[in-house]
Amino acid sequence: MTEIGNMLANHTASAPADHSADIPQVGLAIITGSANWGLAFPEDIEFDGVRTLRRDISFETPFGRSDNWKLIEFDASITAEGRTKRALCMYSHGNPRDHIDHSCHRRAFWVLMNAGVKQVLACSTVGAINKAIQPGDMVVTADIIELTQTPFSLLPDRQSFDCSGKQIVCPRCATVLVETARRHWPAECRVHGIEQQLVAAHCYGPRLTTPAEALAYRSMGADVLNHSIAPEATLSREIGACFVPFAFVTAGFNDYMDRSRQELLQEHVLPSLSMIASRVALETAARLPANPQCSCQGLKSPQPAERSSRF
Ligand SMILES: [Zn+2]
Repeated sequence: MTEIGNMLANHTASAPADHSADIPQVGLAIITGSANWGLAFPEDIEFDGVRTLRRDISFETPFGRSDNWKLIEFDASITAEGRTKRALCMYSHGNPRDHIDHSCHRRAFWVLMNAGVKQVLACSTVGAINKAIQPGDMVVTADIIELTQTPFSLLPDRQSFDCSGKQIVCPRCATVLVETARRHWPAECRVHGIEQQLVAAHCYGPRLTTPAEALAYRSMGADVLNHSIAPEATLSREIGACFVPFAFVTAGFNDYMDRSRQELLQEHVLPSLSMIASRVALETAARLPANPQCSCQGLKSPQPAERSSRF
């Protein structure tokens, strides 16, 4: 081994590896999901001013490798400040690609924390258990139910930070998203904004919800069921970022309740809306400010040192 090789080996043995060295610094992350199913995002989306700088990026994290990231760029002509900006993008059901691993979100948000991300936009589809919300409607929920919160916390130490459960969805980001969506969403469907105070229950999946589970969540106060919202929301709070979920409805209450009908999802809804949803996501991302000052940032607060040092 060369002298430099020896020095590197010694360094590796004595200090934790700096996994964050190669992570690009960006203010924004887009987490895609079933709302964009079947589309390479953003490459397949007909939207001017967005390009993919790199794809298939992997990052090492203290919890293992996080794969399938894209680095995308918004042209200065379409951003809020008139300056080029970049975002990290990850397909939530594709990380990893070859098996189900719900802990992928801890690795993903460790990457976003080290990227300096301040805003997270997550795209998904939902099932409605509120009878007034119909397939094809778009929903920006105001709150979530996930009774375990997350088994995959990223908070350092014990008792060093207090993370509030209030304002789990960012009202500032939601306003930009809903204003954008109302200009593009099909007139025959509705856009339910954050002001309606709708609630999403999180179910990890991948199995779809049973009729009995759907009724249980409804009785707890949920309006929609989502497989891709709670770890994202909780981990966004833990890294001090604003979080906004963008979802459209692919199953209604009666679809859940009919035990004799084999299918749950209204399959015709997805292809017609996934392109529109993807365009709305990109336009919203372009319109969000690059360096937001938001009340969400104060909802993760350091605790007095004696609470962790004296026991
Ligand atoms: Zn916010």
